[in-house]
Amino acid sequence: MTGADGAAGTGLVFHDRYLQHNMGLARSGSPLAPYPYAEPEPHPSSPRTVGRAKHLLDLSGLGERLTPIAPRPATDVELATIHTLDYVARVRALAAAGGGDAGVNAPLGPDGFAIAALAAGGAIAAVDAVIGGVVCNAYALVRPPGHHALADRGLGFCLFNNIAIAARHAQRAYGLRRIAIIDWDVHDGNGTQEAFYADGEVLFVSLHQDGLFPVDMGLVEQIGSGEGVGKTVNIPLPPGCGDAAYAAAIERVVAPIVRQFAPELLLISCGLDAGAFDPLGRMNLSSAGFRELTRAAMALADECCDGQLVVVHEGGYSQTYVPACTLAVIEALAGVAEPWPDPALARLLIARTRREVGLDAEHTLTAVLSTQRPYWQL
Ligand SMILES: [Zn+2]
Repeated sequence: MTGADGAAGTGLVFHDRYLQHNMGLARSGSPLAPYPYAEPEPHPSSPRTVGRAKHLLDLSGLGERLTPIAPRPATDVELATIHTLDYVARVRALAAAGGGDAGVNAPLGPDGFAIAALAAGGAIAAVDAVIGGVVCNAYALVRPPGHHALADRGLGFCLFNNIAIAARHAQRAYGLRRIAIIDWDVHDGNGTQEAFYADGEVLFVSLHQDGLFPVDMGLVEQIGSGEGVGKTVNIPLPPGCGDAAYAAAIERVVAPIVRQFAPELLLISCGLDAGAFDPLGRMNLSSAGFRELTRAAMALADECCDGQLVVVHEGGYSQTYVPACTLAVIEALAGVAEPWPDPALARLLIARTRREVGLDAEHTLTAVLSTQRPYWQL
């Protein structure tokens, strides 16, 4: 597989430091339905999901065929392309004081600042490797995730918005103008949406579970403002909709819009929490569904930008299924013809949602198409 400047192969960003980001224990529940037990439970955003994904990648034999890309910490200047300098200083001070919460449910320990800067820098390194022609495409297996993080506070396990910072880096360092970000994490990428809401040069498309988190974000009618009108595309799919609905959303909405936008670089916020066994999501995607999403993204990148594609890890909380789905995505990126077996796949391929788009999902797609039609040929 070759891409821009004859680049070959797929890159992988990973660092053991990512596994040291400790979210501690959690008490799930809400003010309306408080957690009833005396003892807390492990935080869902555990290092184990990413660690096991890396382990499976190596066990499958694919790991050694990828080009390793070393991350570096993002600088304060790079973090400040998305975040306020005051927030960057606050996260640093919080970590130096032993840890705490950088916003709402965005805990960090004493190493939290350094590791979060290394996650943002990992996404930047992936962009450098792809645009620099070292590899054709790349997967940044980073944590903590980033897409909920806002300019001035952390949110939903996210400290710095890795993918937004990487997009700004591509513009600043390489003079790229049009960048498209597709976010298929089960939660809405509210932080990324806010970062580029009035920006006509960054297209943000989010496929997520309707009404999940944050509840007031990712709505169909949130389409951008000012120069950015029509450059935010929200597709809030109904719970349980499965592989067929995602494929239809890509084919009918995402692909035509991305083609017309004609990005010079395509970035993916790759949450694996739309996977069928995720404790925080209910979207029923199989590893085959993730593989198909990735192939669709690759086809768009081939059409628009010489295949230049950077995939950045976001959420995902099933310790068994995040590794399988992450592997499926990276196998697709690397053009692996014979996938590593997914033991759960047979059970998921017989689901009706593998073949049929439900009426509720059809309704969502119709609403998105009619909302976006003033801005795109759909
Ligand atoms: Zn998520």
